[in-house]
Amino acid sequence: MTITARPPADALLPVYRRFPVCIVSGDGCELTADDGTRYLDFVAGISVNLLGYNHPVLRRALERAAETGVLHTSNLYRTLPGEELAAELVERSFASHVFFCNSGAEANEGAFKFARRAATGPEQREIVALKGSFHGRTFATLAATDRPPYRDPFVPLVPGIRIVDPENQAELEHAITCQRTAAVIVEPVQGEGGINVIEDSLLQDLREMTTEAGAALIFDEIQCGLGRTGTLFAYEQTGVVPDVVTLAKGLGGGLPMGAVLVNQAIAASLQPGDHATTFGGGPFVASVALAQLGVLTEPAFLPEVREKGEWLGARLAALAARHDAVVAVRGRGLMWGIELADAAQPVVERALERGLLVITAGPKVIRLLPPLTISREDLARGVDLLESCL
Ligand code: PLP
Repeated sequence: MTITARPPADALLPVYRRFPVCIVSGDGCELTADDGTRYLDFVAGISVNLLGYNHPVLRRALERAAETGVLHTSNLYRTLPGEELAAELVERSFASHVFFCNSGAEANEGAFKFARRAATGPEQREIVALKGSFHGRTFATLAATDRPPYRDPFVPLVPGIRIVDPENQAELEHAITCQRTAAVIVEPVQGEGGINVIEDSLLQDLREMTTEAGAALIFDEIQCGLGRTGTLFAYEQTGVVPDVVTLAKGLGGGLPMGAVLVNQAIAASLQPGDHATTFGGGPFVASVALAQLGVLTEPAFLPEVREKGEWLGARLAALAARHDAVVAVRGRGLMWGIELADAAQPVVERALERGLLVITAGPKVIRLLPPLTISREDLARGVDLLESCL
């Protein structure tokens, strides 16, 4: 090993603004830092660690998957865990087929390609995204992301992707047409954009408009899917069935994994060679994801998430009523945003000092994404800690 004078962290590209905390272990809903400080975690790796830390089912799945000796083959050969996971996701959703990949941005890139492949009009190439959206950091997903500071240093982005304000009906109608549109992508609950629950009526309008235009309706459930809002898929609570759902974040139980779920019409348009990725759906990650899905779909699991979510929503509403600093609270299930009159970052930093991890969603919103396994007691402890920081 080379001995260098500079701290090892300096060797990492400085693209993250990291908190001055070095995490070394975790258990349940708590993380422990290298100085022994314990943190109650209301971030869950930004909606990744659905079952918290050191969950026995995930541990067992990891050990069993390692015992096979095969961490990876390639998608040139069949492996059972990926097939079983795809079958489970199909069984529990609108989808007829699943494509596995490794991240959220990659899932959305795949969704854009599949939508263009399935579009029948010769000019139907355009992807429409909504104001406030976040779909990833690759060139195409960044083009669909409404965050100028993330986009501007990297222009030109991918052409053929536009962002519209859904409150402007004329703009929406102009943007979604049977001549041009291949797909509309929407997060049913916008995450990075400030925890904005998109109204069912807007989703219904988008469903009608995309159906009429022969375009695909893509729900990006990368942050809000997999039980986060209290149902396995966020779309289940909206009264709208999309053509495509993208998943990532929590899917692999902490391992990198993404998925694109598509309906039969889109699946029928795809052929061998149209898309691929080296690691997608490999046996190791798929085994862990499958074991986790088993927990998420236990009969009592999601009803409990909904119950805890309702309780948390009520507690936050009461907190908002007590504090002028709070402008609004909004969310669904265990995905909540607290909009403040002023900057959210100082509150996040105070919370860290008091042993609670929370993050922002935009400049004035505190975002709460606790593990779905969190107890009522830990939820209450977190809300009390947060209130003490306001
Ligand atoms: N879509 C949504 C809604 C997200 O929240 C994110 C990440 O925060 C992404 C896409 C991108 O996912 P990844 O960081 O895995 O590429």
